[in-house]
Amino acid sequence: MDNDIVDSGGIQVIIQNEKDKKAPRCVHGPTLLFEKKGNKDRRFYACSACRDRKDCNFFQWEDEKISEERMLAREEQNRSKMPPFSHHEYCSRFRKFVALPLEQRRFCVDCQLLIFPEEWQTHEKHKRLSEDVTVQRLRRPSLLLCPLENKKSNAQYLFADRSCHFLLDMLSGLGFQKILCVGTPRLHECIKLGNMEDKRHTMQSLLLDIDYRYGQFYGQDEFCHYNMFNHHFFEKYATVVQEVVKHFEDFLCEEGGAKVVMVTDPPFGGLVKPLADSFMKISVSWEKRQNKDSGAAELPMIWIFPYFFESRILECFPSFSMLDYQVDYDNHPLYKHGKTGRKQSPVRLFTNLSPKDIILPADEGYRFCSVCERYVSAENKHCPRCNTCPSKDGREWRHCDECRRCVKPTWRHCSSCGHCALPDHPCGQSQTGCFHCGSQKHKLRACPKKHNKRMLVRGRGAAGLLKHALVKPTAKNKWKKRDM
Ligand code: SAH
Ligand code: ZN
Ligand code: ZN
Ligand code: ZN
Ligand code: ZN
Repeated sequence: MDNDIVDSGGIQVIIQNEKDKKAPRCVHGPTLLFEKKGNKDRRFYACSACRDRKDCNFFQWEDEKISEERMLAREEQNRSKMPPFSHHEYCSRFRKFVALPLEQRRFCVDCQLLIFPEEWQTHEKHKRLSEDVTVQRLRRPSLLLCPLENKKSNAQYLFADRSCHFLLDMLSGLGFQKILCVGTPRLHECIKLGNMEDKRHTMQSLLLDIDYRYGQFYGQDEFCHYNMFNHHFFEKYATVVQEVVKHFEDFLCEEGGAKVVMVTDPPFGGLVKPLADSFMKISVSWEKRQNKDSGAAELPMIWIFPYFFESRILECFPSFSMLDYQVDYDNHPLYKHGKTGRKQSPVRLFTNLSPKDIILPADEGYRFCSVCERYVSAENKHCPRCNTCPSKDGREWRHCDECRRCVKPTWRHCSSCGHCALPDHPCGQSQTGCFHCGSQKHKLRACPKKHNKRMLVRGRGAAGLLKHALVKPTAKNKWKKRDM
């Protein structure tokens, strides 16, 4: 079996091997093949990027024959959903825009677009930014643009200053001079601003993101319109794609000793394998661009994701480790930095860099564990019996002699289950079946009730995937609809 099957709840993603080029394309590039678990005949292609049919209604059974007519209609539809301007056009618009006097610069909030006096008419009925579009504002597109709010696939959660500066200082401290920002527009912005403040320690940054609105503010050497679920570079014209890919590959070249690191903060959609697949491809491109024959080296990477994805990430990247640092977001109602209990952010850094080199801020309580050789959070006490600092969620865990491991502080040992669990767990049923709902038909990982709103605010679970196949598309807010 040369196809890789990924467990993602009740639905699996089948990663096609390289030779298999037959995956049809939606506007977001090649689609992915999904399979309803245990039902091989019901495989279907669906969008790699959008987990909700409202956002991309592409759907095709694996064995479905598509008429020429439908094929043409599909191509036409794909074209019509492309961004209103090519990146090249966005760039020349930007140059023209900054040359305008301040009173002629406008930003249309409805269209999320910098507009020119000759276009005002078209946007007359639209809401526009009341503040001046100053150079300062143009340097902070993540504040100017409203964050995409799609709950299912690509809601944008922007780093709080605390986390952004931590990342920046840490990377610069480790001597990285080129940062490949995959889905981290605010970090990219922060790097550029940092360069202006401190001319001696400049860092280059390239942003890869599906949100093409950023193409308005950044040149071709700073931004690529990119889909990280299928490693697809968007461009209207095939010849331009080659140019874009060349920009990307040139960036990965460490000429003159400029070290590259990739930082990514993907939507927490659960499709870990397709992401890992793309990051692997990025790493391979990086390796190719170095003329050394070191071989088998991996691009330094930092993958930002919730701690409960640890096992799935380590499955894809065994060389990674999870750090205790809690990543905070600005516009996130739940994931705020808190010292105790449930308020703490569940988002962590996963990296193939050496954990002992990543110094976590002492003023936030992080300390170095000399046994584990890594920095850990304040309440993560080293357990001599487990010989590790066991806490994943930042709370102090407790060693259970019967389980012979450390468990969450709220868990109690249950003698009928034979292991620790929450006091109100479905007792006696969980040993063989699902640990979450008690069903004997599936395991915890495939539980359809597991991915509730609380756990996967930024992504979606199996239910979302199912919807992809079953729910009819409805047009709502135009940004939500076209928020590629
Ligand atoms: N914390 C980051 C933003 C993370 S939000 C920061 O502050 O910089 C997730 C980001 O991934 C968004 O910018 C979103 O546009 C981007 N994204 C979502 N789906 C994507 C896809 N399929 N391919 C590439 N980027 C994607
Ligand atoms: Zn799509
Ligand atoms: Zn408008
Ligand atoms: Zn222990
Ligand atoms: Zn126990």
